[in-house]
Amino acid sequence: MNLQPQASHFIDGQYVEDSAGRIIECNYPATGEVIAQVHSATPAVIHQALDSALRAQKQWAALAPVERGRVLRRAAEIIIARNRELSELETRDTGKPLQETLVADATSGAQALEFFGGIAPTINGEMMPLGADFAYTRREPLGVCVGIGAWNYPTQIACWKAAPALACGNAMVFKPSELTPLCALKLAEIFIEAGAPAGLFNVVQGYGDVGAALATDPRTAKVSLTGSVATGRKVYAAAADGVRHVTMELGGKSPLIIFEDADLDNAVSAAINANFYSSGQICSNGTRVFVHEAVQKAFIARVAERTARAVIGDPLDENTQIGPLISAAQRDKVLSYIEIGKAEGAQLVFGGAIPAGYDNGFYIEPTLFTGVTDEMRIAREEIFGPVLSVLSFKTEAEVIARANGTEFGLSAGVFTQDITRAHRTVAALEAGTCWINTYNLTPVEVPFGGVKHSGVGRENARAAIEHYTQIKSVYVAMSDVEAPF
Ligand code: NAD
Repeated sequence: MNLQPQASHFIDGQYVEDSAGRIIECNYPATGEVIAQVHSATPAVIHQALDSALRAQKQWAALAPVERGRVLRRAAEIIIARNRELSELETRDTGKPLQETLVADATSGAQALEFFGGIAPTINGEMMPLGADFAYTRREPLGVCVGIGAWNYPTQIACWKAAPALACGNAMVFKPSELTPLCALKLAEIFIEAGAPAGLFNVVQGYGDVGAALATDPRTAKVSLTGSVATGRKVYAAAADGVRHVTMELGGKSPLIIFEDADLDNAVSAAINANFYSSGQICSNGTRVFVHEAVQKAFIARVAERTARAVIGDPLDENTQIGPLISAAQRDKVLSYIEIGKAEGAQLVFGGAIPAGYDNGFYIEPTLFTGVTDEMRIAREEIFGPVLSVLSFKTEAEVIARANGTEFGLSAGVFTQDITRAHRTVAALEAGTCWINTYNLTPVEVPFGGVKHSGVGRENARAAIEHYTQIKSVYVAMSDVEAPF
């Protein structure tokens, strides 16, 4: 399997190589096989990318918004037409089952482009009457925006950042995660095919140092990061030096609360999706599953029975439901958390090991712990793997307080048939996104982002426009200027 791109970077409308940069190897996580190799960006490449973005941004911002929107919508159409090819690439890059990537990755990216392409002509200022005088605001682009991605959703993350940025008249330099360098290059090609000016969306490869160089460059007006809280702190601080705008989409340890009156089969489905989809590598996952003590036994039995049927296998086989994790390092991190859970006294109900016959790739069985308490590290720290922790509770007030007892605040879910309790609980939860009787649905029409340490700013929906524009106020006098002397 050779997926070697033409060159490492995509700048000013074409592939660019500088082999002086450190080598980044790209593995197929199901086998560990090297499928491509790229070079980390050198200072010369970073300079070229930012300079071309700066040039393209001026040209792009001068277009009528409806023309900008048309380019984004064309890009969405190309993605949809090429969904299978892009999904297969995403599966090879990330190891996520094709069954998932066909419906959740390029398609979600296309929806973002379609949505923001559609609303581009509606991104307006306001007019304020002031008696004879008046004022108006212009909603202007920020300039060159830097996007820095995580490895779990490489295409979606690139599109969720690029679509609102470009719709507002900005240009973007995007640095994918060093673990998944391939998909963003395809997006860059597609933008050119859709009619975007060269330099509008550039991709540079690299490790954290390249992200840091982009985040601190004087040409950068904004940094949008998707990554861990630890990286978020660094990038936020780096951006502060130049008083740059930021969007921070960071980690989580989200609660999924299942009350005693919940539809249990739906709650079990949600808990499975919220912990085992993408082998648990989803920021918004509901990894602290609070189950009312009255239904806990039945809940665990049903999760165990259904998970025993899960198909683990080659992610390129469309029947596979559970694929590998992204890397050996991530697998080992998750395995070490499983050991920590056992040592802390949580009971391992199922999973917890590398599935038999899968030692070459980076697989871990779906894993369930019960008897988990709030102080355990597996209940406090983001594991980012297929590990579901069940915590028992008795009352609504208790579970709300415990659900909020974390530095994170990305998401939360509530299962109950009681409509007033559902809304009351959600109102009390400290989270950027809440779901009632479902979990992890993130359509582009709905804002997405975190509170507390899980982030700053919002992606998706009109809310994202606030984070890719700045307001210029213009006062217009209609009469002579009075002065005291
Ligand atoms: P990470 O923090 O290790 O890396 C994220 C990106 O930041 C990578 O591209 C990396 O090269 C870059 N980076 C690292 N150090 C940097 C620095 N000093 N300056 C600039 N860039 C730097 O995260 P990851 O392991 O790739 O992804 C997993 C994390 O991402 C999890 O914590 C997960 O919750 C989070 N995540 C959040 C969301 C969200 O929308 N909130 C979505 C997906 C993933």
